[in-house]
Amino acid sequence: MLTINRRKIMLTAVAGASGALLGHVGPRPVFAQPAPSTRSGNAGHYRFQVGDIAATVLSDGTIGGPPRIYAGDAPEAALEEVLRRAFLPTDRMTLNLNTLLLEIGGRRVLLEAGAGSTMGPNGGRLFDNLRAIGLSPADIDLVVISHTHPDHVGNLRTAEGGPAFPRARVLAPKADWAFFVEGDPDLSYMPVPKEFQQRFAANIKESVQPVAGGIELYEAGTELLPGLTTIAASGHTPGMAAFLVHSGGDQLLLTADLAYHPVVNIDRPWRPGPDRDQEAAATARTRIFDRAAADRMLVLGFHYPFPGLGRILRTDSGYAWVPAGWQF
Ligand SMILES: [Zn+2]
Repeated sequence: MLTINRRKIMLTAVAGASGALLGHVGPRPVFAQPAPSTRSGNAGHYRFQVGDIAATVLSDGTIGGPPRIYAGDAPEAALEEVLRRAFLPTDRMTLNLNTLLLEIGGRRVLLEAGAGSTMGPNGGRLFDNLRAIGLSPADIDLVVISHTHPDHVGNLRTAEGGPAFPRARVLAPKADWAFFVEGDPDLSYMPVPKEFQQRFAANIKESVQPVAGGIELYEAGTELLPGLTTIAASGHTPGMAAFLVHSGGDQLLLTADLAYHPVVNIDRPWRPGPDRDQEAAATARTRIFDRAAADRMLVLGFHYPFPGLGRILRTDSGYAWVPAGWQF
C-alpha cells in the first residue's frame, strides 16, 4: 500500500509541475488537479473490497438500443410485458458500462476499457471518473479486456489516435484478436443493420490500433496475476472470458457479456442477440451462473445497472438477480 501511495504522490507532483510533459502522450490529459467528484451530480465510482484487493467500479457511462437486440429469442408480447413490469421503457434498453479498477500487489489493473465514443454519445466518462478519484490514465499499469467488442475496447485510443493509457500493458483474449482484429469478420449474425455491423468492425480495429504492437494475448482459464483468474466463457465472441477476483476467502465474479441486462438475461432466460455461437454462449452462461449461485458469489455485471453488483439466485425455473446493498 505504501508503494502505491508514494507513487501516486510522485505522479501527482510530476503532473502538477509539468502538465505539458503528460500532454505529449495524448490529447485527453489535463489531469493535474483532481476534479471535484460532485462535478456531474452523482458519483460515477463505487469502492468496495475483495479481501485485501481494493476495487472501484468506474462508470464509462451508458449505451443502449432496442430491447429486442438484447433478448433475441424473446416472444414480442412477453418481452414488452417484462419491461413494463420492471418499469423500463419498451422501445429502448439502457446498458451501463461498469469498468473495474483493482489494486493488486501494488499494481493498478483496469478490467475492461469501456466504450468511449464508439457506441453513442453517452460513453467516455471513464476519464472524468478516474480523475474524480485522483488518478490519471498514466496511473494504470494493466488493462485486461474480456472480449474485443467496441464497448470494451473503445477507450484504448485517444481522439488523436494515441494510446489512452500510456504506461499500461494491455491483455486481450487470443481468439478474439484473431477473429476481430487480424481477421475480416463476417458479422451478419448480429441482429443489427449492415451499416452498424461495418462500423462495429471498423471501430474495433481502430480502437486497438494504438496498442496492437505491444498487445499480450491470453487464453482463458489461467491466473493472469495473483488474485485475478480468467474463466473461459466463449460463445458471445470466440474468445470471451469471465473474470474471478479472489483474495483470502473473498471472491468476485465478473460476468462480462454473458448477460446484458438482468431483467431479460438472468430473471428471464432470453439470449443476447449478438451471441455469435448461441449454444456455446448458453452453455457458458449456465455453467458460470450455476457456480455463482452455488457459491453465493458477489457478481459484477459490466452492463447491469450501476454499480452492477449483486448475486445470482437459483430459482425453480431459472435464476434471479438480487442487487447488493449500497455500502456507504
Ligand atoms: Zn458489452
